[in-house]
Amino acid sequence: MRDESLIICESITKQYQSGGENVDALKGVDLEIASGEFVALMGPSGSGKSTLLTILGALNPPTKGILKIDQIDVYKLSTERRADFRATYMGFVFQQFQLIPYLTAVENVMLPLAITDKPGEEQLALAKQALDKVGLADKTHRLPNQLSGGEQERVAIARAIVNQPPLVLADEPTGSLDSNTSKEIMELFQELNREGLTIVMVTHNKENLDYTKRAIHIRDGAIEKGEG
Ligand code: ADP
Ligand code: MG
Repeated sequence: MRDESLIICESITKQYQSGGENVDALKGVDLEIASGEFVALMGPSGSGKSTLLTILGALNPPTKGILKIDQIDVYKLSTERRADFRATYMGFVFQQFQLIPYLTAVENVMLPLAITDKPGEEQLALAKQALDKVGLADKTHRLPNQLSGGEQERVAIARAIVNQPPLVLADEPTGSLDSNTSKEIMELFQELNREGLTIVMVTHNKENLDYTKRAIHIRDGAIEKGEG
């Protein structure tokens, strides 16, 4: 990965149609994020954080504007190519973890590898390696409901990094954890960032700013001045 900007947003707007009304969720976002950054995306509820994160995640086309990741104009790609791009470039961690309840930890972590042409044995080895990295080597065969909240979060993080993507996007990943567990999870993200992973994390929690390198504040669909 190059040192220059990994992510470039140019004049990104997003309008949703809701019950005959237009909602301006993003009102012209310009933003650059370099490879190796750990960015906290902060702002009040409804300010557009999740919208921006899903746009960065190649999941939600902007109404106007351009998203470039590693110099690729993401929303110019066909839907299929965009899916391949997503699988190569990013991992996602959601607040509710979204683990499949009837799959074991290691099976959950293997899911993103299912669409690759890697042989099954290699998929299993990569998933075990990712679980080892998040400190769960001894719990690979547990079901999600046999794991604590923090452990489930670790499984979700292992699943996000199993493809070894350069970028991880996380939407309030510590939102449902107690403060000690949150700290452990933030330490894990920090360690992954130190190893070179670029992370963009939506968070409400100011304590998480102890672990990130930069905070971007968004209000009413726009980035507050002095940042970006
Ligand atoms: P945040 O994550 O900061 O709480 P969101 O990005 O979820 O903010 O939402 C920004 C604005 O866009 C809010 O007014 C929200 O109601 C609206 N919004 C988000 N998603 C949709 C959608 N799918 N359809 C209509 N309106 C939406
Ligand atoms: Mg949100």
